[in-house]
Amino acid sequence: MERTFWKHCSTCKKEIPFRGRYHACNVSTCNRGHTALAFCSVECWDSHVPLLRHRDAWAVEKSAPSREEWQREQVEEQLASERREARAAAPAAAAGAHAISSSGGVTPTPLPHVNPADLPHDVLVVVSKLKAYVRARSGMNTSDGVIDVLSDKVRELCDAAIEKAAQAGRKTVLDRDF
Ligand SMILES: [Zn+2]
Ligand SMILES: [Zn+2]
Repeated sequence: MERTFWKHCSTCKKEIPFRGRYHACNVSTCNRGHTALAFCSVECWDSHVPLLRHRDAWAVEKSAPSREEWQREQVEEQLASERREARAAAPAAAAGAHAISSSGGVTPTPLPHVNPADLPHDVLVVVSKLKAYVRARSGMNTSDGVIDVLSDKVRELCDAAIEKAAQAGRKTVLDRDF
C-alpha cells in the first residue's frame, strides 16, 4: 500500500505530508527514533507540554522528509532491527567476536577432546522425584538400576545438544538444542 503522508500529528492525528512543515519538540525524550513526536502546529505542540511536564521546552519548526527519504529510513530501520534480533538470538556468538567468520557463516565452537573415562558419572536425576513420578503415574516401584541408565540417557541427550550448540558457534547450551 502506497503511503500518502509522512506521519500523524502526535496530538490531533492530522496527517503531516511528506516534505510538509511540522513542529518538533526540543526535548530529547520526545525525539527518540521512530517514536519521535511530530506536531502539525504550534498549538498541537503546546498541548503536549503539560502532559509530559516539560519545564524548558520549545517547538522547533522542521520539514518532513520526502517519501524517498522516508522509505530509505524504513529500510535502514528494518535492517537495524533484524541485526538486533540476530544478536539477541545468539548472545554468546555476539560476545565472542571470533564466532562469526568474515564470510558471514558461523564458525563452530571448538570442543575439547576428553577421555570419556574422565567425565563425571554422577546420578543426574533426582531419585526421590523420579520414583514419586513413576508411582503417581502407575503405582509401580522403580528399580535402582534405572537411575544409572537414565543418567546415561541424560548424558547422551546433553552430548547431542552440546554438539548442536557448538555447530551454531555458541558457548551456551540452550533449551532449543534438545
Ligand atoms: Zn495537530
Ligand atoms: Zn516534548
